[in-house]
Order: sequence, then C-alpha cells, then structure tokens
Amino acid sequence: MELRPGLSALVTGGASGIGKALVLALASKGIFITIIDLSDKGNQVASLAGNEISKLHSELGFPPAMFIKTDVTNTNELSAAFKKHFETYGGLDICINNAGIGNPVPFDKDDSKSWRLTVSINLIAVIDCTRLAIQTMQLAKKPGVIINVGSASGLYPMYADPIYSASKGGVVMFTRSLTLYKRQRIRINVLCPEFVQTDLAAKLDPKIIDLMGGFLPMEMVVKGAFELISDETKAGSCLWISKRRGLEYWPTPAEEAKYRVRPLTQRRKSSLMFPFSIQIPPSFEKIVVNTLNHNFRSATSVVRAPLRFPLKPDHVLLKVIYAGVNASDVNFSSGRYFSGDKNEIESRLPFDAGFEGVGIIVAVGDSVTNLKPGTPAAIMTFGSYAEFTMVSSKHILPVDRPDPEVVAMLTSGLTASIALEKAAQMESEKVVLVTAAAGGTGQFAVQLAKLAGNKVVATCGGKEKAKLLKDLGVDRVIDYKEENIKTVLKAEFPKGVDIVYESVGGEMFNLCLNALANYGRLLVIGMISQYQGEHGWKPRNYTGLCEKILSKSQTVTGFFLVQYAHLWHQHLDKLVHLHSSGKLKVAVDPKPFLGINSVADAVDYLHSGKSVGKVVVCIDPSFGQQLAKL
Ligand code: NAP
Repeated sequence: MELRPGLSALVTGGASGIGKALVLALASKGIFITIIDLSDKGNQVASLAGNEISKLHSELGFPPAMFIKTDVTNTNELSAAFKKHFETYGGLDICINNAGIGNPVPFDKDDSKSWRLTVSINLIAVIDCTRLAIQTMQLAKKPGVIINVGSASGLYPMYADPIYSASKGGVVMFTRSLTLYKRQRIRINVLCPEFVQTDLAAKLDPKIIDLMGGFLPMEMVVKGAFELISDETKAGSCLWISKRRGLEYWPTPAEEAKYRVRPLTQRRKSSLMFPFSIQIPPSFEKIVVNTLNHNFRSATSVVRAPLRFPLKPDHVLLKVIYAGVNASDVNFSSGRYFSGDKNEIESRLPFDAGFEGVGIIVAVGDSVTNLKPGTPAAIMTFGSYAEFTMVSSKHILPVDRPDPEVVAMLTSGLTASIALEKAAQMESEKVVLVTAAAGGTGQFAVQLAKLAGNKVVATCGGKEKAKLLKDLGVDRVIDYKEENIKTVLKAEFPKGVDIVYESVGGEMFNLCLNALANYGRLLVIGMISQYQGEHGWKPRNYTGLCEKILSKSQTVTGFFLVQYAHLWHQHLDKLVHLHSSGKLKVAVDPKPFLGINSVADAVDYLHSGKSVGKVVVCIDPSFGQQLAKL
C-alpha cells in the first residue's frame, strides 16, 4: 500500500511516545488520522497532525485529524471510536494498535489488579482493536493494513517485567496467526522494537539500556512501520528492530523452515507417491548450448551425459517428466542471462538449457532428510531440458502431481502473480490491459487481474486465442487480426488504462504507453517481438518516454522473475490453491511435443505466434501416459 494523501489511519496510544511519532509521520504523508488515547495530550497531537495533513489537501468538509478520548480496555468505547472513524473518513486503511504500559509494580508484590490491567491494555485491547479494525476494513471493502505494536520483549524474555514480556509475546503470536486475512486483502503485522526513548522506557534501569547498545532512534521504528504498510508481501510478518541489527524479520527463514509444514491442500494430495519403480540409467540426454545464438535450434544440441554417483550430500536426482518452454529460451541460448563481455560468456559454453520442469525425485543425497524418492517435485533451475537433473534440495518445490498444468504455474504463473502484486501493486476496480494475453504468462495475468476485481482488456492474434480469453473471463478481448487495438482503446477506454502487463515490446510498447491513464503503471514483462530479429536482439529507442510519463505521473517498471526467488514458494502455493479450488484455469497448448529431441520444435512453435496457452514438452512420453492414468 502506497502511503499517500487521502488514506485514513487510526492509532491507539497516539498521544505520546511511539504512537505520537507514528501519527506525525503518517500526517506528513497527508493521511487522515484518529488518535485514541486516555490522555488529553491527544488533543495537542491531533492539532499538530491536522496542520500537517491540511498542507496536502485543499478545503475539507471534515477534520483532518481527530482525538477520541478512549479507554482501550472498554470495548464499547472502542467500538464507538472505530465507528466514528469510519463515518468520518469513509473507511479505514491503516490501524496501528500501539497503546501499551509496563507493569507498574514488581510481580511478587502485585495484588493481581496490576498485572491484569497490563494484560488488558497490552494484549486484550490489541486483540479487540484488531477485531474491530478487520470488521471496519471488511465493511469498507478496501485493502487494509493493521500493525500491532509488540516489543522485542515479546520475542525473548524481559526479566525485569515478566508480565510485559508475556503480554507482548501474546501480541506476537496472535498477530502471526492472522496471516490468512491476506486473502481478504487485510494484512496484519507486528512490530517489535527494542527500547525507544519514551516515557515508558524512562522507568527502566539505564544499565539495561546501555547493555542493549542504547536507545533505538524513533526514525527506525517509523521506517519499520512504513515498510510493513508499503510492502504488499508482508502479512503475518513480525519485524524486530534493534540498534544492533537494524530491521530483521523474525523468525528468520532458516528458523521457520524447522517447523513450517506444507499447506493441507498440498499434503493431502502429495501423499500420492509415484508407484512405479524407476530405473536409474547410467547416462541420460540433455540439451546444451554450444554456440551463443538467438536461434535456439542452431545454438543447441542434444548430448548424452553420465549420471555420476554418489550424489552431493544436499542434492537430489530428479527425473524430469514435463519441461516448460519459454519465450526467453532464445535469450538464454544467446547468452543474455549471464553478465560479462562476449568472451566471458563464451567461456561458459557449453551450458545446460531449460528453465523449469516437473518430475519425480528418484534419489537423495545423504544429508537430505525432508525429501524421499517417489516424491513429485518442480524445479526452476537452469538445465531442465534434460531427462534427469541433479539439484540442491533447497531448490526443490514440492508439488501435488508432476502435471503439465503445474509446469505452466512455474515461470509463467509466478511471473504474473508476483509482477502484478509487487511491481504493478495491483489493487481493484482498475482497468488492466494484458498483451500476448493468451500465451504462457498472459493467461495468468488476465485471471489474477479479474480475481482482484479489475476490468480486464486483453490483446491476442487469432480466433482460438480470443475464445480462450473469453472463457477466462476477460471483459474486452481485442483480436488484433480482426480489430485495430489503438482504435478500440481510444473509443472504449478514453481515460486510458491503469495497469499494463506488457510482454510484446516494440510498437506494442508504444501503443500501450500512449493508452496509459494518469498515474498508470506500465509493467515491462518482456519484448518477445524483439528477441529474434535477423541479427538478434536490437535495443529500441523510445523517444519522448520521459516527457510522456512525467506529464501524466506514470510509471514504467521492469520485472524479472529471477530477482524474486524468495517469493516463489509462497506464490506457487497461492496459484496451486486457486487452481485446486477451481478459481484459476490453466491452459496448456494441445500440440504434443514428445521427447528431448522435440524441444527445438517447441521453442520454434512458441515463437510462431500460433501457440495457445503454455507450451510444454513431455520429456518422457511413456511416463507421461502412466501418470495421466493415475
Ligand atoms: P507466450 O506468451 O506463450 O508467447 C507466445 C505469444 O507471444 C504468441 O502467442 C503471440 O501472441 C506472441 N508473440 C510471439 N512471437 C511474437 C512476435 N514475434 N511478435 C509479437 N508477438 C509475438 O510466451 P511466454 O513464455 O509466456 O512469454 C511471454 C512474454 O513474457 C515474453 O516477452 C517473455 O520474455 C516474458 N516473460 C518475462 C518474464 C520475466 O521474468 N520478466 C518471465 C516469463 C515470461 P499474440 O500474437 O496472440 O499476441
């Protein structure tokens, strides 16, 4: 979520300390604010915030910031405050549940009232405010972000105040358990700063503060909160902020891997282990690039290589059953995926080709404990145009079945899913234009844009492709063999389109740029029309690009899947879930490509412009048939 004028936020405990700093930081972005606090200092903060917010807005018929004196332990007062916020600002985009206290008396001197009050403010009120924020966001039918302010003492013990530590630990686990609200586009995260110089910390022993390396600057806390708000991938995330280590997500991925289990949807089906015994031959065939050339066929050849044992301890041997064909195979064979000058790239020759595949694990190295032979798996590592491939177990993406549809969800599906979320920051109720929409990745882009509640316009060349796109729910299909894209866009979308998922390049890029609305985002996914010119790829000049995007506050943004490997697992889970629940269709081109020798034909076919959906090669046709019967 982009922090921009016109959003609204509610901050509890906003009259002082971290809450006040967050209120003022949000106000500087022009965000309308409600401050909830028991202290009357909230009035002053609201007036400071109001002055800031007003600088970014002309005449408003409502207060830019409000203070609502509220006891957060009183559910009725809280409900009334959320209601007032909704009525005043027409929604709730950001809610920061920050109110908290330290336990005022030592635990063993407590008469029970004191610790109960601490737990009520620090934990129970946070739960209550989270509930009210979710309900308000659901009512507004818009995406929202909730940040619960925990503490570093919710991650590890704080010996001086066990009740504080217990309550903040509760906030951390409560928040992390709410990840699934992201499906309703409500992201709930927890912020865990170490000691910041506030009234609360003033009561602490200065020796402890020194031990921790001193107070944390308030700017780091604001930076952390803004990161959780802006980064759309953060849902259920816990951000630890310390003077010593800066901003760090907790637990680290390595820690999380120890207890993370695969989603139920996957586990249920993947208990289906492949039942046939698989002979491991002494050698296998694969495709290697011998000379750098954008003509895949002349750049590559099929070679036989020995299968060497023992496997490296952390590697697995995968029998590839289906491999995916990608427009960029021709860029790979021309050496574009490697950096360096021509000599450096040539020194890598010969290298293995192919970006992705699915198959069955047939052997595992000594230190691999989480995977076994017989398990279906996907890979997105170079060298998957091969009958067998050895890969590090950390690159294995476990899947339910090694089917062609799963291959389509890898490079093609993940590109659409991650690019639309991260680079396009896709919201709803926008007009989204997808080019080459009936291709491998385009088919996913149109469906994901529809699922997010957008109007989708799609271009393609041919009747069969147009039919597929209509079946996928596209609102306006433009078959450029029948209609002029520019004329249609001008007549039917005079205000322009908000997001373009563009993968054709050349003249199509120009056309899309000219069709972009004010504030529009043009996503450069690729430029297939430029990949195979007579002398290879020629970079284009786009005269006047800066002038165009400047005058309309537009963005042209690049996206390359390789840079988003940290999100593959999560987005593949999402696509598999959407597919298995019937919300996402996967089109695989029906033309059969059988065996490793058919790969070059399949690459040519993709570039002929005739393919519909994802082009897939069945590397082992006899296995493919057995699998289809299962
Ligand atoms: P694809 O869309 O299945 O490619 C086939 C389609 O592209 C054809 O049906 C045709 O569509 C169009 N096309 C083919 N040759 C063309 C040419 N010479 N001029 C104009 N259009 C042509 O292929 P894909 O693998 O899914 O890739 C699509 C695009 O996404 C490519 O640009 C690719 O590089 C890019 N991509 C990028 C990433 C990334 O990380 N950035 C990842 C995956 C893919 P119509 O004629 O129907 O329009």
